[in-house]
Amino acid sequence: MDLKILISEEDITKRVREMAREIRDDYDGREIVVVGILKGCFMFLADLTRAIDLPMNIGFMGLRSYGSATETSGVVEIAADLSHPIQDKDVLIVEDIVDTGLTMKYLIDNLSTRGPTSLKVCTLLHKPDRKRVEVPLDYVGFTVPDKFVVGYGLDHDQKLRNLPYIACLEE
Ligand code: 5GP
Repeated sequence: MDLKILISEEDITKRVREMAREIRDDYDGREIVVVGILKGCFMFLADLTRAIDLPMNIGFMGLRSYGSATETSGVVEIAADLSHPIQDKDVLIVEDIVDTGLTMKYLIDNLSTRGPTSLKVCTLLHKPDRKRVEVPLDYVGFTVPDKFVVGYGLDHDQKLRNLPYIACLEE
């Protein structure tokens, strides 16, 4: 299988900085709780939060989603939950990719019941061609075509997460 670079390291760096500025301006000095969705978010979250000049708490959630290797069934389970409540907090979910939207829909519904002051979504990648449910995406880094993408946190069979760029797998 060959790798074809879709988004270079340089373009990611530039876009992540732009997103960080937009987030800082929108929250205007307020404290936020960043909720990273493991494992795919780790690289994006590290770069993004370093560039956001706001007071923040950072937490992580692990989600388990059932389905085939490349597609979720939408049946999602929380494998690791947040360690702190988010009631009365401004919460920003940080995700690697929104594909069908089923995982994000589950997450938004779940976190909404915990009484946050606000709940927004920041995703590095969006694959709109495969949308199955409508989810509000407040910050989107890049729109990608309907291809399986890897790198910059995203895996193929738990590998390739360490690539510094986003690539697609070609047979
Ligand atoms: P969704 O519920 O939106 O269909 O997808 C949720 C999860 O599926 C993402 O958080 C990600 O873990 C995985 N996923 C979806 N598309 C891709 C892709 O192109 N590459 C990789 N590596 N993971 C993907």
